[in-house]
Amino acid sequence: MTKPLRLVIFGRQGAGKGTQCDQIIERYGVAHLSTGDMFRAARDAGTELGLQVGPIMAAGGLVDDEMTIAIVKERLESDEVKASGFVLDGFPRTADQAAALVEMLGDEGLHGAINLDVPLDEVTARMKARGRVDDTDDGIAQRLALYDEQTVPTINWFDEHGMLVNVDGLGTESEVSDRIAKAIESMIGDTGDAAG
Ligand code: AMP
Repeated sequence: MTKPLRLVIFGRQGAGKGTQCDQIIERYGVAHLSTGDMFRAARDAGTELGLQVGPIMAAGGLVDDEMTIAIVKERLESDEVKASGFVLDGFPRTADQAAALVEMLGDEGLHGAINLDVPLDEVTARMKARGRVDDTDDGIAQRLALYDEQTVPTINWFDEHGMLVNVDGLGTESEVSDRIAKAIESMIGDTGDAAG
């Protein structure tokens, strides 16, 4: 019996994380656990959670750790996700979330974390070029600053615990997805598991 892949992916907005997640999902048959998607769905459905997180998201802030950890925990504990494995996207974003994740996973643990690395000036240019309504110069700068402030220390934490692989995010889509596949294969090899 082979163990399903359990992965975290990091990357600034504009790094191409969405596209690469799609490739990982297709290749490994894992569930896509994106906290941003979960919060957007709650907001659009107008649930109690959605009403709470809507204004926070609109202001470019972070939802508090307790609510965020609860929504991830519920998904991680589902039989479906246990069977398929997962790629976590947008979580953890803070040190407390990282600690909670490690506790939630227990002995199962993670195969590792990938940091899709694209330089700041390049992601800024890409976000400006796609011209979404919420992509004002100030909005872009604020979200990128928040990433450096909160998420980069979280990435460093994974690095210090020997769980991080940096992947160069510059190049064509297929060049980058080949690098990611190699990174994942190295993680699977390290833990002795094989992905499903
Ligand atoms: P994303 O699509 O990952 O950028 O997420 C969209 C928004 O959802 C973020 O700007 C935050 O307001 C919220 N959000 C998503 N993931 C998290 C998280 N792990 N912790 C706190 N807030 C989050």
